[in-house]
Amino acid sequence: MAIDKSFGSNRILKACSLNVAAQETLVVIGPSGSGKSTLLRCVNLLEPVDAGNIFFEGRDITREADKAHLVRREIGMVFQNFELFPHLSAAENIMLAPVRALGMSRADAHDIATALLAKVHIPEKADAFPDELSGGQQQRVAIARALAMKPKLMLYDEPTSALDPEMIREVLDVMAELSAEGMTSIVVTHEMGFARRAADRIIFMEAGEIIETATSDAFFGGSVNERTRRFLDQIL
Ligand code: ADP
Ligand code: MG
Repeated sequence: MAIDKSFGSNRILKACSLNVAAQETLVVIGPSGSGKSTLLRCVNLLEPVDAGNIFFEGRDITREADKAHLVRREIGMVFQNFELFPHLSAAENIMLAPVRALGMSRADAHDIATALLAKVHIPEKADAFPDELSGGQQQRVAIARALAMKPKLMLYDEPTSALDPEMIREVLDVMAELSAEGMTSIVVTHEMGFARRAADRIIFMEAGEIIETATSDAFFGGSVNERTRRFLDQIL
């Protein structure tokens, strides 16, 4: 079950095994270069794995490269740099996938966009273009865009690390609200306040290995191993 992934002779993921239960929020921490983004990209089938299996809803999707686009429809991904389409309004960004991939009518997709912009607390920004929005607002549009496909799993890759400090909270609040509503999520972040609030379990990665998996209670209760402790001492 453990995932292995190399780029050339570089072994990036070493027998990484992770399970996410429905409705669970898993936070992944670890130093830069430890393989966190690669792990998310493997889960999303953006990167083929060399060994191991990825199960989604009990189904082994590891070798389903030809159906990867279908799997990805059910997995929403949010990136550090938002990656909104600059020439489309907030509403149009959200409508794009439902219209293109699902063949939804523009009217129905617009209704969904309106509801999702309200959900991420910027109902007034439907017609704004990305460059008219703050970073925090852009990231919330990106979250709404991912939600438009009604994903069963959300992946967040350091979603607040490109944001000014005063905008981090508004994005984390939306993510925590989604988690509280039962959205299954894997979140790469070093925002330990968010982890404390929203995580069910926390994973620590180092040099391509999952060093530790702890429940949030154990983690914040201080029962972590020495390597995790050393990392936390650096970031806190
Ligand atoms: P993290 O997200 O924890 O910072 P990454 O998953 O981005 O780590 O990267 C882990 C390692 O894999 C790094 O050493 C990085 O240089 C390497 N890596 C990532 N993507 C590629 C790629 N497409 N080709 C070659 N090496 C890569
Ligand atoms: Mg990364």
